[in-house]
Amino acid sequence: MPELPEVEIVRRRLETCLPGFVVRDVRIDDPRVCDLGEDELRATVVGRRVLGLRRRGKYLLVDLGPVDWPVGAESGGRTARSEGVEEGAAGTVVAVPRPSAPAGRLLIVHLRMTGQLLFRPEPGATRSRFVLALDPATELHFADVRRFGRLWSLDPADEERFFAGMGPEPFSPDFDVAYLRRELAGRRAPLKAFLLDQRRVAGIGNIYADESLFRARLHPLRATGSVGPREARRLHAAVVETLQAGIDHEGSSIESFIDPAGERGRFQEILNVYQRTSEPCRVCGTPIERVVVGGRSTHYCPRCQPRRGGIAPTARRLRPTGPVGKRTARGAPRTS
Ligand SMILES: [Zn+2]
Repeated sequence: MPELPEVEIVRRRLETCLPGFVVRDVRIDDPRVCDLGEDELRATVVGRRVLGLRRRGKYLLVDLGPVDWPVGAESGGRTARSEGVEEGAAGTVVAVPRPSAPAGRLLIVHLRMTGQLLFRPEPGATRSRFVLALDPATELHFADVRRFGRLWSLDPADEERFFAGMGPEPFSPDFDVAYLRRELAGRRAPLKAFLLDQRRVAGIGNIYADESLFRARLHPLRATGSVGPREARRLHAAVVETLQAGIDHEGSSIESFIDPAGERGRFQEILNVYQRTSEPCRVCGTPIERVVVGGRSTHYCPRCQPRRGGIAPTARRLRPTGPVGKRTARGAPRTS
């Protein structure tokens, strides 16, 4: 499923082509995709120009400007219309927002398991769940085989509330080793569950959690609170490096991820553990094992990620569920 790197790739692709387009119409083909009905949604977005794209965790944010339809009408006058000019106290000219200044709008998309934003998909492709008709003439389709993806249309003032409780971005200064150590301390959940918890750090899902723990040489069932200072440093570096590697390889196309131009990512080609059950570890040759943590498949190398330092209480009875072949270990790795 799309995680931070995949959503970031979608954002970067759309950022090169979507800003400047004006939303001409919107069509909802699956009412479950949005809290608003088609007419309500239309009223909030039609006539607005795409200003830019952002990402928060696994969410894609589309910033829309004030209503500006028809395209080109009174072009160049938007700033003057939205702001008044008054004399400041000391005779200086200052711009102040008019009370009636038109507000922007924020569209938020979560791709969930299989969501794809595509420009004019090929005829016969998966039916779209919603379509943004754009001017100049093009269409952005939201295809989503498993139909868990969601769309929201928000007043930008509600953005903070929407993301309240979400942990820091992994690439932001807020996510540093000190923060990670504070969050790890005293918790008993398995490390795998900790990394998936969007309240601790935003954007990590199953693939990048497994790969980060392999890179950090930490067992996925380790009790979070048992992680020492040096291990926390390793984990921090591993999370950032693994997500960056995902972005550098343009995401993982394991299930259905393709970018808006229909291109696949390449990160799946260099996965160390994810969905490699029974295959030899790339570092030590030991067969990769699989265990289910909180309903999620979890993959790890039992030699590179030894069970030491305190297994989470909820995970003590968990046993690997994948077929375990003959071990061919050639010695434990000393470096990541
Ligand atoms: Zn190994």
